[in-house]
This record gives sequence, structure tokens and C-alpha cells, in this order.
Amino acid sequence: PCTDFDVAYFHSYAHVGIHEEMIKDRARTETYREAIMQHQSLIQGKVVVDVGCGTGILSIFCAQAGAKRVYAVDASDIAVQAKEVVKANGLSDKVIVLHGRVEDVEIDEEVDVIISEWMGYMLLYESMLGSVITARDRWLKPGGLILPSHATLYMAPISHPDRYSHSIDFWRNVYGIDMSAMMQLAKQCAFEEPSVESISGENVLTWPEVVKHIDCKTIKIQELDSVTARYKFKSMMRAPMHGFAFWFDVEFSGPASSPAENTSATSVASGTSSTSPSGEGNQKKRTNPSDALVLSTSPEAPPTHWQQTIVYFYDPVDVEQDQLIEGSVTLSQSKENRRFMNIHLEYSSAGRSFVKESVMR
Ligand code: SAH
Repeated sequence: PCTDFDVAYFHSYAHVGIHEEMIKDRARTETYREAIMQHQSLIQGKVVVDVGCGTGILSIFCAQAGAKRVYAVDASDIAVQAKEVVKANGLSDKVIVLHGRVEDVEIDEEVDVIISEWMGYMLLYESMLGSVITARDRWLKPGGLILPSHATLYMAPISHPDRYSHSIDFWRNVYGIDMSAMMQLAKQCAFEEPSVESISGENVLTWPEVVKHIDCKTIKIQELDSVTARYKFKSMMRAPMHGFAFWFDVEFSGPASSPAENTSATSVASGTSSTSPSGEGNQKKRTNPSDALVLSTSPEAPPTHWQQTIVYFYDPVDVEQDQLIEGSVTLSQSKENRRFMNIHLEYSSAGRSFVKESVMR
């Protein structure tokens, strides 16, 4: 059922700003275009569905790659502009814009390819992947191509003293006035919710761990209701730890090669191909050992509009070099609004443990 939350959600995509931000994110848009061109032989003469077409950009890339027909589906009113963009580019006979939810629109044929840019902050925020799964199960031919094919969410402990002093220590001395009475409230306000911001590789205390690896061909919607991962880090340095950073990558591999079939291959790839713990080296487009194209939002990758998502502790904890940091994280859809995400984090290290609950709204 289409709830009020969905109405608000689709309404937010009717604004130009959000599309401008996504399209200007070159790492994102160019990697998608390259992935489409890399799979041209599987797209040429074939039928494609673009799940959440927005302005129609990915649908047009697919048409340019030779697709016979592209169904460009979007529930937001941006579909009106998508239709005009398609027309202005002389592609109206190839790209069919359907203004509605993928859950509701009708397509009277099976399709060879599904493409979608569904990733939210921390990968799963917005929970649009469920709609891609619905489209896959409704229309994709067995053995069809789905782009991206795999997604992996990572986490790592971080130190971010600048952020802490900027928002909290700031209150110690304000124009000569001791305002440290404000600090408790400042912590509550700054760190209650996860924060989307850019950190650098230097903030990361050790190698990331995989929270969730997703094979877009096989994942089921129910698996996304709640995701739990245990973690165990060994800090590579002595530092005040301020919380955990989360980021993701997506991989574009064809049906023949599914290089990330096992999770360890992916985590090894993002661990060893780099010079620092946080990730994937500085090359523009990282490829994994089997040469699949990867779009990474790691702190070491070229910046994207997703940045990284940080779950801060209210107070830093000092960790020693080689200190073990362990616990678990659970990401679940909020009952209040399924577009929101609850984050339940359990932390334990050097005899201290606590739980941090937060909601990403
Ligand atoms: N493909 C475009 C836009 C990506 S943003 C691009 O790459 O630039 C995601 C889009 O998916 C939004 O426009 C949103 O309205 C749409 N969307 C999300 N869930 C949907 C659903 N269930 N049915 C149809 N459209 C959906």
C-alpha cells in the first residue's frame, strides 16, 4: 500500500535539487554510464527496466547503448520531466516513461536487464532496494542482468577530535564565558542521530568489516527488515575513539561472472588494494580481482554525495594500540516510518560496554 510516508518520499524527488546533486556526483553517474557501456553486449537489442528513473538519465544511457526498449519507471512527479527529456532527445519510441510505483505499474513483457540507482545513506536508508527486488521478481528473465549486481556495507571505528572540539569543547570558553553547562545538551543534539559527513582515511582506526553483503540477484525482501552483524576490531593506534563510520560499495558484474559471490573476496579486495585501513586506494574507479566495476563511497575513494555516515558516541573512549573493540550492530526499518532506519549499536572494549540507539530520519 502507498502510505503517507511514501507520498512525502516521492514528493521529495519532485524537486530539482536532489536530481542535480545526484547527476553532479560524477563518481556516481560516470560509473553507472561506464557499467552500462561495459555490459553493452547484454543491453543491445534488449528490454530494460530503470527502477526509479528520476530525470531519465540512466534510461537514456541504456538507449544510447542500443537497448531495444527501456521502461523508465518513477512514482515521483519528476517522471513528467523525464518524459520531456526523452522526447527532446528523440528517444520517445525507445524509452517508455511510466509514472507510478514499480509495485503498481504494468509491463506486459519480461525484461532482460534491470538498472537502478537505489542506494541510500548507509546503503539501506530509504529502503528502496525492496522496490528493485519487487521489479526483479515481477519482470526479470531468469539469468537476466541486474545493475548493480552486488552491494556491500562496511563499518570501521574512527577518531574525529576536530568534530568533537568544534561542536562540544567549543562551549568551554565562549567570548570568555564558561558555557560548559551547555556541553551535555550539545552532545545530545550533535550525536543523537547518525551524521552524514565526509571523513578522511586518517580518521579510521583500522580495517573495515563487512556489515552486510548483498547479491541483488538473490536477496529477498524479508532479509532487509533487520540486518545484524557482529564486529571485532583491533585498533591500529592509540587514539580517542569517537564512534563508527559506515560506507558502502556497489559492484557491476554480469550474470556470467559473479565475483563477489563470497563475502570474503569483497572484503579482501577492499582491504588489500589500499595503502591505508579505510579502504580502496585512490584510483578513480576501483576494480576487484575479477575486474568488475565498483562504485565506492569509502573515505579513500573520490567523494560522492553519499559521503560517509557516522554514528558518534556521546563521549569519546580512549583506545590503546591493538585494543580489541567488539560488539554488534543492528539496522532495522523503523515501525514509525519504513523509510526511517533504527540503528542499535552494542559496544564493548577493555571491560567497558554500552549500547547506543539512534534513528536515521
Ligand atoms: N535514476 C535516477 C534517479 C535515482 S533517485 C538517477 O540515477 O539520477 C531514485 C528515484 O527512484 C527517485 O526519483 C524516486 O522517486 C524513485 N523511486 C523510489 N522508489 C520507487 C518506487 N517504488 N517506484 C517508482 N519509483 C521509485
